[in-house]
Amino acid sequence: MGGVMPGVFLGHGNPMNAIQSNAFTEGWRLLGESIPRPEAILAISAHWYGPDLAVSGSVSPETMHDFYGFPRELFEVTWPAPGSPELAERVRKLLKPNEVRFDAHRGLDHGAWAVLCHLYPKADIPVVQLSIDNRMPPRFHYEIGRLLQPLREEGVLVVGSGNIVHNLGAYDWENENTAPFDWALRFETATRKLMLEGKDLEVADYAILGNDARLSVPSPDHFLPLLYVLGLRKEHEHVSFPVEGIVGGALSMLSLKVG
Ligand code: ZN
Repeated sequence: MGGVMPGVFLGHGNPMNAIQSNAFTEGWRLLGESIPRPEAILAISAHWYGPDLAVSGSVSPETMHDFYGFPRELFEVTWPAPGSPELAERVRKLLKPNEVRFDAHRGLDHGAWAVLCHLYPKADIPVVQLSIDNRMPPRFHYEIGRLLQPLREEGVLVVGSGNIVHNLGAYDWENENTAPFDWALRFETATRKLMLEGKDLEVADYAILGNDARLSVPSPDHFLPLLYVLGLRKEHEHVSFPVEGIVGGALSMLSLKVG
């Protein structure tokens, strides 16, 4: 088949998903099997959210254990996918005239590896990460996604990793199966509807959803990766939601596939 790669956004949730087997990890595995095998992956993770735009250029990026308070076995996991300085350079070129810093030492954060390890358990596809520039407004991130569109024709899978609703302050740590909070469900439903209707710029303007948006997106880091994936969408292209669910009342695991 070859052809155009889809773009995917993955709701990553708890880092423990890396070593668990549940409905979400099973959904990720099936997703990996259902799309053409990419030649390389560009990951945009909520956990590389900093004051500039940068790409990871390491040949063999380390598995970063960028969390704390989890069992030792999670810290022992490695997912040794290679890097791709070539793809990093390609991304820099595509994003011109934006300045993109080449970071030769950056590893893979858990927003990337803890989900990709389920899509590609063999860790045999090169992965590059692109940072989220935290100085910029939501529409900028959507525009960066648009600039990355040509990668879809070049065998590159662009993966956004975050959570559409992410409020750990409201999260029910006693019972992750608790019913979703009204505001979480309303915000997720409204966002999903906008995406189905092709109103992607309105998704970037999520703040207009008022209090539901403030509670669902208390800080933008986990929401913004979604906008990169929406930016990959070509006109009239369909979207689907291969994985869904809200855990702890306040954390949406909704995934999106474009194309
Ligand atoms: Zn996260």
